[in-house]
Amino acid sequence: MAEGVGNEADVIVVGAGIIGSACARHILGLIQDPGLRVLVVAPGEPALQWSNTHAQWDKTHAGSYAAHYDEGRITRTIDAHPVWSRLARASIDRYRDLEVQSGVNFYTESGYLLVGRPQTKDSYYAQARHTVISEGVSAEVLDRAALGVRFPALQLPPHCEGLYQARGAGHISPRRMVAAQLACVRADSRATLLNATAQACTRQGDGQIWVLLDTGETLCAPTVIVATGAFTEPALLSGYRLPLNVHGRTVLLRDVTDLTAEAGPRAAALASLPSLILDLGPHEPGLCDDVYQLPPIEYEDGRRYVKVGRRSTRFGQDKYSSAHGCQSHTRITHLSICLVWVTIHRIGDEEDPNVAVGPRGLHAGLFAAVGGNGGAAKSGDEIGRLAALMLLDRWDDRYPREPFLLAANVTPID
Ligand SMILES: Cc1cc2nc3c(=O)[nH]c(=O)nc-3n(C[C@H](O)[C@H](O)[C@H](O)COP(=O)(O)OP(=O)(O)OC[C@H]3O[C@@H](n4cnc5c(N)ncnc54)[C@H](O)[C@@H]3O)c2cc1C
Repeated sequence: MAEGVGNEADVIVVGAGIIGSACARHILGLIQDPGLRVLVVAPGEPALQWSNTHAQWDKTHAGSYAAHYDEGRITRTIDAHPVWSRLARASIDRYRDLEVQSGVNFYTESGYLLVGRPQTKDSYYAQARHTVISEGVSAEVLDRAALGVRFPALQLPPHCEGLYQARGAGHISPRRMVAAQLACVRADSRATLLNATAQACTRQGDGQIWVLLDTGETLCAPTVIVATGAFTEPALLSGYRLPLNVHGRTVLLRDVTDLTAEAGPRAAALASLPSLILDLGPHEPGLCDDVYQLPPIEYEDGRRYVKVGRRSTRFGQDKYSSAHGCQSHTRITHLSICLVWVTIHRIGDEEDPNVAVGPRGLHAGLFAAVGGNGGAAKSGDEIGRLAALMLLDRWDDRYPREPFLLAANVTPID
């Protein structure tokens, strides 16, 4: 334990990724009490080695990893599901304030384009068109001809249509967004960040939750929230197993540094690309039917990459390798993702509905804020805020409670 850090707190946040870091910041914002004590436990990002032999990052690291160790995540309010659209809008509306408050920039408003087939009933695209109307999202509908004029760099198939959101959409650096949240947390003297891994969270008879760290130390608090993403083991939830499906996800990074440095129309076309999702339906011979792509983004090696991935989990390295070859300027990386609607839930609520609200108005007990179906980065600030509200025994009635409860939230993706 760092010098001066006691092992008792009012709240312990386990996991400081997209959701945990936002939750910690919002707890501090929602509770004005100067005596509040918040501990945030998460390991730092491990250093991975790039392997030219395997054209991927060598997994020399044995411990937990995180889904936010990357530079590019699409952000948008166009979504097939109204609640996801709402979560994203609330988060995106706060991005600039968070950047100013933290001094960390993470958001690029490059716009977002969803391409699909409106005639394919019940497709993601068709549902997104409905949500744009029901949620009042400001988006243009572009027919095939208009798409060609507006985005000449995109080679799109015939008979498609686009929903284009120019403002309040683009991409974020999830790594820097977490850094922004944690900069705000650090600036509050009531909070302490611990660079450690939790091994177990255990409910004790006296109502306290003990959090055992890999250092051998134990922390304790009446309120503990676990936000460890794809690495949420039952041991962290006092033995409770969440219905999570955890998948690896393959991402291809195409190095376009030289192309973007050119003076000319190719560089200009690349620079004007929006974030893109292509949803062409399952039966499109010869086409990648379900891909997403981000505009050129600078990565930690100082080079600029276009990131391409597939939304469905059927995508694998072999398919990409055989189609495009593993060239030296292309990286293939694997990251973890957990597929479940966001769970914002008190573990044990089913057995014990009459929970006590303890000192500082905090709900006592062990909580989880986990999940995201591969799309929670953009919405993480709002998800973290809802999680913080839950600890205060409150909810924001603009959101139905039900989709966030454990019983209702398992969503098959494929
Ligand atoms: C390849 C890929 C592409 C994606 N694309 C998009 C996109 O375009 N748009 C979008 O909105 N979302 C996207 N996502 C999803 C988004 O990144 C995740 O939904 C989001 O990061 C989930 O946040 P989280 O806080 O639950 O988990 P994470 O961000 O993974 O954070 C988990 C945290 O828990 C910590 N932790 C883990 N185990 C322990 C432990 N035992 N003790 C203490 N701390 C622990 C980790 O160190 C980390 O700090 C993508 C995800 C992937 C993998």
